[in-house]
Amino acid sequence: MKYIYGPVKSRRLGLSLGITLTPYKVCSFNCVYCQLGAGSGTTSQRREYIRTEEIAEELKLWLQNNPKEAKDLDYITFSGCGEPTLNIKLGGLIEEIKKITSAPIAVITNASLLAEPSVRRDLLNADLIVPSLDAVVSGKFERIDRPAPGIKIENIINGLIELRKEFKGRIWLEVMLVKGINDDLPHMKKLKDIAGKIGPDKIQLNSPVRTTAEIGVLAVDKKKLEKFRKLLGENCETI
Ligand code: SF4
Repeated sequence: MKYIYGPVKSRRLGLSLGITLTPYKVCSFNCVYCQLGAGSGTTSQRREYIRTEEIAEELKLWLQNNPKEAKDLDYITFSGCGEPTLNIKLGGLIEEIKKITSAPIAVITNASLLAEPSVRRDLLNADLIVPSLDAVVSGKFERIDRPAPGIKIENIINGLIELRKEFKGRIWLEVMLVKGINDDLPHMKKLKDIAGKIGPDKIQLNSPVRTTAEIGVLAVDKKKLEKFRKLLGENCETI
């Protein structure tokens, strides 16, 4: 299989079959905590990086060859080794997959392109969207996510607010905290205000526990994470 991996058992998604929609590290961000390494630069250009017909064919084959696991799937998850919304045929692929399986579809996205109405439209038929929001102010955003030129945090926040109005499925907002960059109390208070405007079903707080490709990217200690979890309210959990 070239584009499908797993299924893997994950704590938050259960039994999840992964699909990648881009080649290795084609992404609009170059996050300091990324486990994929530096890659060859960022892009915000949407293209059919991988032909979605090929992905759908591969998935059909997997479902035929693995009927028992297929029945037990909790999610088919678009994430993989790049940013899935960069694939311009994302919406068509979701429609195609809905015709061949009843497994719910989750999209893990860095949210960078959500300001574009066409990207939000592409996501409407998913069941769960897990967008990232690591920082809510300029400066911190550029430091932690290192976006492609032209991507602004204000536009991402507005895109998330619009997405919540348009999308009927579940939204779990993921926040990755890195020691010394975005883990100060004033920033977390601002993040709480913005999250209140977005209105996700859940907020998931995370901190890099696995080895990251860059040296000096440190996790926030558990006590601090717990303090922020309480600050963000009852729909917030640490993962
Ligand atoms: S958004 Fe994901 S793939 Fe892209 S740089 Fe960040 S962690 Fe890596």
